[in-house]
Amino acid sequence: MIKKKREKSHKLMTHEAGMRRVPKNHPKYPILEQEYGKLSYGHKGEEALDYFLTFLPNDNYLILNSLRLEDPKGRYFQIDSLLLAPTHCIILDSKFMSGKLEFDESANQLLRHLPGSADVEKLGDPISQISRQRHQLSLWLEKNGFPPMPIASLIVLTHNNAALIKTTPSITRKVTFHTNLPNRLKEIDENIPKRNILLSNKDLYKLSRTLIKKHTPDHFQLLNHYNVAFNELITGVICVKCSYAPMLRGRGVWGCLRCSAYSKDAHIEAIRDYKLLIGETISNKELRSYLKLPSASITSKYLVSMGLKFEGSFKNRRYFL
Ligand SMILES: [Zn+2]
Repeated sequence: MIKKKREKSHKLMTHEAGMRRVPKNHPKYPILEQEYGKLSYGHKGEEALDYFLTFLPNDNYLILNSLRLEDPKGRYFQIDSLLLAPTHCIILDSKFMSGKLEFDESANQLLRHLPGSADVEKLGDPISQISRQRHQLSLWLEKNGFPPMPIASLIVLTHNNAALIKTTPSITRKVTFHTNLPNRLKEIDENIPKRNILLSNKDLYKLSRTLIKKHTPDHFQLLNHYNVAFNELITGVICVKCSYAPMLRGRGVWGCLRCSAYSKDAHIEAIRDYKLLIGETISNKELRSYLKLPSASITSKYLVSMGLKFEGSFKNRRYFL
């Protein structure tokens, strides 16, 4: 049963907004684009897990996706999918990577062998990473008053064009393909002593609720990170059809000067970008200049139509996005 849905990280969402709002000729655009590619690739891989999680051998699992928790030492750790049962839990980590992959246990490296050459690309150390996650989760359980539980983990290769080479029994215990995930979970399930119930049904749900409550979304400040100034961004409403900005407002709708598309609510996306990149509050004046609206009273109409909460009066009023 899915208790927490998969969601995009704040970092990925800010990069999506950055791809719309940082001009393509900005010197930082290429690294922004590269990082965006990595993040959206990773998210795709996590989503590929979800389909196979619908084939679980054991309906009793509570499934929590995209968790980000703080361990007792103030370090954050992220779990792609966490499966909870009364006897144990399982951490799944998705790796969306194609090609000939080798887990080199002596060097603690995941390697990709490049086609037609002897070269390898180093792709980090997912095995140490997931064992750190197990350790941090056990610390978290203890801190939050839950009994110590067996924590199993699996690295799941979610790309259809991934192949494992030079495997050892130790690697096949730790790594699987997404297509084989239900079988591997069944094996783990069968190896856990059934009599060893550590959590009653009530406590199991309490654990799930506590995990969701303690989930702390990341917060990524894209402009700071890439050293992009606010006034370098593309402002205004972006055309949903052709990406031209700004769309202009006339007779209550947004119109595109380039492709003649029109929209009633295209400003919503623009305001979402503002929240992701610039700030969580906005004044009438700031919104007016950002959306390139002709007057304070028209801007006010938009603010009212969105039903935003606000604080302050008159000129000092700030609306919460
Ligand atoms: Zn257009």
